[in-house]
Amino acid sequence: MDNIDLTSTLDRVIGGRTAAKLAERIDVRTVGDLLRYYPRKYDQRGKLTDLAELVVGERATVWAKVVTIEERELGNARNRARAGGKRGVSHITNIVIADSHRKLTCTFFNQRHWSKQLRPGADAMFSGKVSLFNGKLQMSSPSVAILDDGRGNGAAIGSGVETAIGSGVETANGQGEKDKGASAIEVIESFPGGVIPVYPLVEGLTQALVQRCIRTVLDVLGDVVDPVPDVLLARHGLVDFGTALRDIHRPRTQEHLNAALRRLRYDEALAIQLVLARRRADARNFPAEPCPRIDGGLLDEFDRNLPFALTVGQQLVGEIIATDLATIHPMNRLLQGEVGSGKTVVALRAMLQVLDSGRQAVMLAPTEVLAGQHARSLREVLGPLGRGGELGAPPEATTITLLTGSLSAAARRKALLAIASGQPGIAVGTHALLSDEVFFGNLGLIVVDEQHRFGVEQRHALRTRHPAGNPPHVLVMTATPIPRTVAMTVYGDLDTSILSELPKGRSPISTTVVPAADKPAWLDRAWERVREEVGKGHQAYVVCPKIGDDESETPDDGSDLESDTFGSAVGSVLGSAGGPGDGAAGQRPPLSVAAVAQELRDGPLAGLRLAVLHGRLPGVEKDQVMRSFAAGNIDVLVATTVIEVGVDVPNASMMVIMDAERFGMSQLHQLRGRVGRGSAPGVCLLVTEGHENAPGRARLAAVAETNDGFALAEADLELRREGDVLGTSQAGRATSLRLLSLLRDKDVIAQARDDAQGLVGDDPEMSQWPGLADMVSAVISADSQDYLDKG
Ligand code: ADP
Ligand code: MG
Repeated sequence: MDNIDLTSTLDRVIGGRTAAKLAERIDVRTVGDLLRYYPRKYDQRGKLTDLAELVVGERATVWAKVVTIEERELGNARNRARAGGKRGVSHITNIVIADSHRKLTCTFFNQRHWSKQLRPGADAMFSGKVSLFNGKLQMSSPSVAILDDGRGNGAAIGSGVETAIGSGVETANGQGEKDKGASAIEVIESFPGGVIPVYPLVEGLTQALVQRCIRTVLDVLGDVVDPVPDVLLARHGLVDFGTALRDIHRPRTQEHLNAALRRLRYDEALAIQLVLARRRADARNFPAEPCPRIDGGLLDEFDRNLPFALTVGQQLVGEIIATDLATIHPMNRLLQGEVGSGKTVVALRAMLQVLDSGRQAVMLAPTEVLAGQHARSLREVLGPLGRGGELGAPPEATTITLLTGSLSAAARRKALLAIASGQPGIAVGTHALLSDEVFFGNLGLIVVDEQHRFGVEQRHALRTRHPAGNPPHVLVMTATPIPRTVAMTVYGDLDTSILSELPKGRSPISTTVVPAADKPAWLDRAWERVREEVGKGHQAYVVCPKIGDDESETPDDGSDLESDTFGSAVGSVLGSAGGPGDGAAGQRPPLSVAAVAQELRDGPLAGLRLAVLHGRLPGVEKDQVMRSFAAGNIDVLVATTVIEVGVDVPNASMMVIMDAERFGMSQLHQLRGRVGRGSAPGVCLLVTEGHENAPGRARLAAVAETNDGFALAEADLELRREGDVLGTSQAGRATSLRLLSLLRDKDVIAQARDDAQGLVGDDPEMSQWPGLADMVSAVISADSQDYLDKG
């Protein structure tokens, strides 16, 4: 066979029938596809498998030692019944195997040869489905490869002893195809260094088949062209591509395997980063209207009226953004900052700079409450300068338009006209801004607040609301800290700035878990504490997972987009049955704003000024409640997560979160960020009926322990199974990210990001590096490239 390279089709190498099978089962068609079908794990020859890792219901292959072999003739009906009543079973062999701690019973029916072939002390590989029988782990008729028969003979030493892969030839579903036992052993034995790859299997594929195909392919594979430039390989000390491919499948030693993994992980990281760098380069090449800083405009006026000094971080990020806005290409910047770090001011200043250039700015907020708050605080800080169009306003005054779903038809029409006119001004709104009827006459800047509440499509949707002229600048902000690697991947098409410092004079938030079921007295104490805070002139939030008693209700009420994100956090719990009073959390329905407010009014908080807030209230009412809470006319606000993001009432010093285990860690962190915004220390109580060792309790403890949003976001990421973040979980796909881990491979991702930036430069087509472009499509399927788009 000549000229076998990565693009050769497999039928030339492993035969048409097998090639067709691989194509059908795992979508593997070329030599390159097969060589990117990486092992799922490796077993070390001679090292026993940890039986504790076995999962009931899954197929597994274990290396173990035989402890006992016991045979039984089933001469009578009673014995047959004991064998599970299997018809036609006359003989049972039970072989107990073990690692150093655990045992596992392998049961064979009518296979009388095992007692002759194996004896205690033998070393063998057993492969089959793990089940539970009488409370014990077992495998029924596994396939067996003997490595050492316990008499000192073993395939390993090539003694020619008959060591067959046993009866039930190993297939993913435990049935079917006869495989040639001897050759399976041969394949196993042929692994140099005793490191044996274990491949992900699907129905109809066997370990031995995949191993054999890979070996055949590697035997005939010619030289492999390395797509990655030599200088990068040298810089990072990476092995060449051909070596990596050989060593990931047939590692000579553990060290060779590690080197191969390192190289191939780098390739995956580089592929992602090349996609993103190309996208950034693309965006940079678009033209944009420059909006340089202009002296004596609205921005200067705003700065003069600012009641505090900007933090160093706010100044620095402000400078960077000001420079971005002044260039002839669109800004695409992500601003991350801890809850309360003061991102809003940064965004407002950017908007004013754009206004000063005679263009429009729009701010997209995830909730009506937040949109209303932004519009209000803008009007406040700008004073008369924000009352454009009103009587007596100075001529240079600008207009601030609020656009939410609950505007009256007339108000809405007026707002849309103002926006379409292209008059410089600020529009603040919710997803209502994304509707098809909204057109901006002269849009210079889009700000997206709390980006994690939106999809990236929405970011794009707004861009297209500006049909004439050049694309606007974009600033997206998020307080939910994005782990660095996610920022470099999912958000990797954006430039990133971080506000890490909080404004001075902030008091720390102390968070405590209140186990309401174990220690009911603590909950009583919590309400007393609320009274004390109110007595000191402060205010409090009580947060519940649900609005009312309506069982059919969706988990969140929040206006607009909230239901999506929140729903995923609690959706699964809500489905569970059980009436109130069942006690255990997760059994009874979640606590609702309506019920909790009623109970507090009638009981522990009687006499205080209580109000409720949730997404199903009419917009006007929401706005009234928020205003009057902000003005200090409400003591306790009982709310859903509608207040999760952005709400800013510095006088509120305490938050009680009911059924806290129903919220995600990042979400709890966001919620508690509503308190401790003024000079009074913030207190957050996480109330749960979950018991000490209920699974949710550890998460609550973690939130109570740290105020570091980044740490919590990383922990959340871990729980979320990072695979989902990149969409790498499509099992069996040949072309997807397989080896890279967002948690483990931070450094590799950072390296690759720098390298990709250098390689792409300002040439999104990468015409200099055609090999790399091919590598990108080989590593990242079209689906995943889309996925990167969706955020
Ligand atoms: P976030 O970053 O969570 O959106 P905000 O923008 O809501 O935070 O700011 C939180 C609070 O801090 C607001 O009341 C804001 O007015 C105030 N703030 C912002 N910057 C400063 C500063 N430099 N000094 C003092 N207070 C500030
Ligand atoms: Mg904010």
